[in-house]
Amino acid sequence: MRQRAPIEHVPGMAVVKVAARCNLYCTYCHWFRDATVESRPAVMSQEVEQAMFSRFREYILGYGLHEFVLCLHGGEPLVFGKERIRGFVASARRLAWETGARIDVCTTTNGVLVDAAMADLLRDLDIQVCVSMDGPREIHDRARVDRRGRGSFDKVVGGIKTLRGAGIEPTLLSVIDPHADPVEILKCFVDELGFQIVDFLLPDVNREDAAAGHWKSVSPFLISLFDAWYDDYSRRGVRIRLLEAMIASVLGRRTGLQGVGFSPMCVLCINSDGGLENHDALRISGVESIATDLNVMTSPIDALFSNPVWRAPYEASLRIPEECEECSLRPLCRGGDVIHRYEAGHYDRRSPYCSDYLDIYPHIAARIRADLKPRTRRASSITPWRLHP
Ligand code: SF4
Repeated sequence: MRQRAPIEHVPGMAVVKVAARCNLYCTYCHWFRDATVESRPAVMSQEVEQAMFSRFREYILGYGLHEFVLCLHGGEPLVFGKERIRGFVASARRLAWETGARIDVCTTTNGVLVDAAMADLLRDLDIQVCVSMDGPREIHDRARVDRRGRGSFDKVVGGIKTLRGAGIEPTLLSVIDPHADPVEILKCFVDELGFQIVDFLLPDVNREDAAAGHWKSVSPFLISLFDAWYDDYSRRGVRIRLLEAMIASVLGRRTGLQGVGFSPMCVLCINSDGGLENHDALRISGVESIATDLNVMTSPIDALFSNPVWRAPYEASLRIPEECEECSLRPLCRGGDVIHRYEAGHYDRRSPYCSDYLDIYPHIAARIRADLKPRTRRASSITPWRLHP
């Protein structure tokens, strides 16, 4: 029997680039920062898809996985088309039967291509849907535009309504615009559009981008977002994964979220040509930081875990950068997201968001400490992140 690759954290999810094209051209998109994506197959071929599923079978059985998630991703995954999505899910069902593992299928879409037939299909196939949206029209349309610069707000809202009409309640993923007012964004997402689960991502910039002036502070946004959520929206049952993960980190718990606290970068991504890769946002540091010479047509999935291009960010994500040694936040921040820590071929610098972390984590800790105070006499002396193991 073939030996397993040397890895402690085995990916339980595959991000599958079923489409390398997108109907939008968002200004901050990491995908199009790699010019080679334009030369990849527009959609994954049947041949590659078939080989990929047989590699999944081998991988799930080899590692004894009981659960596995397949995320339809792109580009824009709905470009894959209804028939191909149906075929993909049929293969996923077969995979579950062959391996005995639970296989879930999800997708992250820009929502523009959702029509009634697509929404019915996603519902019938039990695909969990996350929609990307950045806020009310003037905020969303600043970045989420098509190739002619036209905003997509109306179409996305139309897609969300169509999904709901089919009985799907999507979640929401939003890239932070540091100039925007987070209270206005929460009003749009929750009060106007009725979302209960929202997530925010920091804009993807690495150390080199920051040195070139492409970094903006996000701490005013995050502090204001946290206060609005903590004081109001969280009490109404609204969940924001980024803030929940930051609280978990402050309290010394595992966060389970990439870039917050201890979060090994062990992502399995399959490109539309079958190429095996790490987290696709690593593209912000150039194609050489993500592309390997491995492909599902010729290599088992776990060959990836021995590949130096894949291992570099993985191993860096297990370590705290040396320049964080003296920082009191290091047990919970750990230098920030490894994607942002890249500089000159390495991931061992601290994040360009360091100054933001120095603002937001103490703010969250202070808010939590103030709440704990009336309930316990010792609470006033607690600095939550000191509880971290
Ligand atoms: S706040 Fe800055 S110095 Fe401290 S651990 Fe995070 S990145 Fe490192």
